[in-house]
Amino acid sequence: MSPRGQHVDALARAVLERLESSEPQSVRRLLLAQVDAVARLLRLEARGASVLAGQSGIAVLVEDCRNEYLRGLDADAALAVLELDWEEVVLRVALHRAHERRIGMSRCSRCGGETVEVTYRGHRRRPPGRHFRRVGTTDLYRARRCSSCGLVRPPNTG
Ligand SMILES: [Zn+2]
Repeated sequence: MSPRGQHVDALARAVLERLESSEPQSVRRLLLAQVDAVARLLRLEARGASVLAGQSGIAVLVEDCRNEYLRGLDADAALAVLELDWEEVVLRVALHRAHERRIGMSRCSRCGGETVEVTYRGHRRRPPGRHFRRVGTTDLYRARRCSSCGLVRPPNTG
């Protein structure tokens, strides 16, 4: 990846992190839907993209993240980051989200962290938590556990 591409990526990750840590959950869902909508409009080269980015607060959020990101950079890198278009960053955010959806990653409902699937083999014993679900008629049980805060949730049901 080019240095420019790396900056776009780092900035997109910062924006995504910010979106995913928004509270309450209803606001977080709305913001995530809006960033997807802005990206869709950008891909269609539709006129409404910058209006929606402005009204939804996505544009401000990108600039906030940019300012924060700039602090850790030297002058040359900072200049490169200042020249990035917010559109490019939003498109990269949407790309990351599409990728996460494709690989079936789900986020923790408490902290927004990444969750991993945990499997428990029963051997006729009961699983170690009420969120474990039996896999078919086997003695395997599954749940998802947050790798940040440890919250255990039922496995993805679709
Ligand atoms: Zn968590």
